[in-house]
Amino acid sequence: VIKNVNEKYFGSYGSFGIHREMLSDKVRTDAYRGALLNNPSLINGATVLDVGCGTGILSLFAAQGRASKVIAVEASSKMAAVATQIARDNGLLSEDSMKGEEQHSGAINVVQCMVEELDKYIYIPPNSVDVLVSEWMGYCLLYESMLSSVLYARDRWLKPDGAILPDTATLFAAGFGRGGTSIPFWENVYGFNMSCISKEVMEDASCVPIVDAIDIRDIMTESAVIHSFDLATMKIDEMDFTAIFELKLRTDPANDATSRTCPCYGIVLWFDTGFTNRFCKEMTTILSTSPYTPRTHWSQTILTFREPITMTSSDAFASSTAAVGTEESPAVRIRSRISIARSSEHRSIDISLEISGI
Ligand code: SAH
Repeated sequence: VIKNVNEKYFGSYGSFGIHREMLSDKVRTDAYRGALLNNPSLINGATVLDVGCGTGILSLFAAQGRASKVIAVEASSKMAAVATQIARDNGLLSEDSMKGEEQHSGAINVVQCMVEELDKYIYIPPNSVDVLVSEWMGYCLLYESMLSSVLYARDRWLKPDGAILPDTATLFAAGFGRGGTSIPFWENVYGFNMSCISKEVMEDASCVPIVDAIDIRDIMTESAVIHSFDLATMKIDEMDFTAIFELKLRTDPANDATSRTCPCYGIVLWFDTGFTNRFCKEMTTILSTSPYTPRTHWSQTILTFREPITMTSSDAFASSTAAVGTEESPAVRIRSRISIARSSEHRSIDISLEISGI
């Protein structure tokens, strides 16, 4: 079954549309480009391993940044062939890859295989790689994630003091109001009230996360860090985690004196990855998929509550017998416990979210 799933997964990466989407995502591609071109003390003369090279873009940047050797690994046979051709057409293919053809002096060596099987195709001494680079992030950071493959490569070939790019990843959350749902849309469709649909839509949305860009005007709480990963040291099983976080109403700079009461309909999740000064001494970079920064192809991930929680910015509410989070007894904060775990169904994730008003 896993073999079939992998065929489907790598097959999907064989279509050029998805690579065009990633390459056109300037926020994403510029972050990697900046890290690879603006940190000469890291890249110049280094041996670089690019896990999942796709078109080879990160390897091309590394070669441009004067890496002495770049091993570009790609499981999709179509993309590995394309990456080889692209490296050759740009004069950056290594002689090792040329097999007697016209000689080039480039650095890139493309290997077509799962990185987990690299040993079968090319010998890389253990602990010999200076820099491991990969763009492994999925929706909500971990959906369809190839992070475990990156960590496998790290443990096998990266020098003990070698660099991993990016080296941090952080998940964030914030609460959103009614406008973050499809309720307002169905309330007025060419002047007709179709709000009976929104009930069903909301019910479905409470089971399945939605990937979409959220309008920051609909975000009503401050942001909270859910979880941070240190990619240089984390273990593969730390990809599954449980975290507790709290959300409180965002202070509205326009009228922060007045207390507000409004229902929170769910939470929106996003992530940042960092190319920090641990390895990037000359220039650090943060690749953010936050709703407060320019949009990326990851957008945000929206989780809708079954029932909204009414929140207030004032703690003047006398405790009543009503449950906290209702109109009679609004919540000052939302406390949430989230678990994210790789699903037994390969490559997807299970998210469980428990919330209470406090
Ligand atoms: N590095 C490219 C492509 C990123 S998409 C870029 O930044 O544009 C991730 C790529 O990794 C896909 O092409 C996919 O086929 C490949 N991939 C995923 N898991 C892999 C694995 N275990 N071994 C080798 N390649 C893998």
